[in-house]
Amino acid sequence: MTAPSLARQVATERRPAPAPPEAASKYVNQWVEPEAIGSERVPAFVLILRTRGCYWADAKGCSMCGYSKDTLGRSATPGELAEQVDRALRRYRGEPYVKIYTSGSFLDDREVDPGSRLTIVRRFSGARRLLFETLPEFPTEETMGPLTDTFAGELEVALGLESTDPVVLRRYINKGSTPDEYLRAADRVRSLGARAKGYLLLKPPYLTEEESVEDVVRSVAAAAPHFDTLSINPVHIQNGTVVEWLYHRGRYRPPWLWSVVEALRRGVALRGSSRLVSFPTAGGLARGPHNCGECDAKVLAAIQGASLDQEFAELDRLDCVCRADFEALRGLEALGVEA
Ligand code: SF4
Ligand SMILES: [Zn+2]
Repeated sequence: MTAPSLARQVATERRPAPAPPEAASKYVNQWVEPEAIGSERVPAFVLILRTRGCYWADAKGCSMCGYSKDTLGRSATPGELAEQVDRALRRYRGEPYVKIYTSGSFLDDREVDPGSRLTIVRRFSGARRLLFETLPEFPTEETMGPLTDTFAGELEVALGLESTDPVVLRRYINKGSTPDEYLRAADRVRSLGARAKGYLLLKPPYLTEEESVEDVVRSVAAAAPHFDTLSINPVHIQNGTVVEWLYHRGRYRPPWLWSVVEALRRGVALRGSSRLVSFPTAGGLARGPHNCGECDAKVLAAIQGASLDQEFAELDRLDCVCRADFEALRGLEALGVEA
């Protein structure tokens, strides 16, 4: 089965039925995580709102994305969104960095209506920086203008660029937009007075470990002039995805943490004035990026420290016996041998 038709089948199977009002008044998740604004480490308040979710996930969906399981199967009403935010605010302790996700696009009116967007931004008006994620077609003067006028701090718009290689993006990740559309969206976001953050995917399906590092390194170089921050996101295996389908058939292993280290070490020379970070999800777990198990915690801590402080020297000093296994596997993959 080709990647796009497999993606369509998986997307159909995972689409949720329309949710009742009680489910729609509860956000998906909330937590606090370490972040940095400039050279200052700060806590970030992360909130995932429950909305109708990404329209592209309904149509075809990206090969690694299982976020549609966290959606409503219909649009949330303004009242339901307000209730989710009320609940979240009870846990808000004035963290200076706030990140609001929707398992889709904050700027898509079908997910968050314009009135609710303004209200949400107003309710976090004490934060210094507020991030939300969106697909590239939605940041415009019309959607962004009211938000930048309302929010006194910095707005940061996250875009899931994933790769600047059109073939990787279209065929292996199955995105609905081209790299150029993402780069133009980042330029637009900055011209509208906000920061642009780009996500780059490490190890989409059908790429070897080595090819995936090369793809990320090339993407860092091509995307850096357009973004204030680039985040390398190694794949973790989410339920109901093409990646999971391949994983269960022994045809996919999540990336090694050594690949994250290499992508950061090489990317740092190419990032220009943008920040280069990586905060691996599910790091050290079987379904997340991992090494041998013995060194995972140490390597993850070094990746986090480098990302927060933009000091990468510690990554050069990392080592473990599993590094030889990693190198051997890359050699076998290069010869076309399944390891
Ligand atoms: S990765 Fe983004 S664009 Fe792709 S299906 Fe998921 S939410 Fe939609
Ligand atoms: Zn190890």
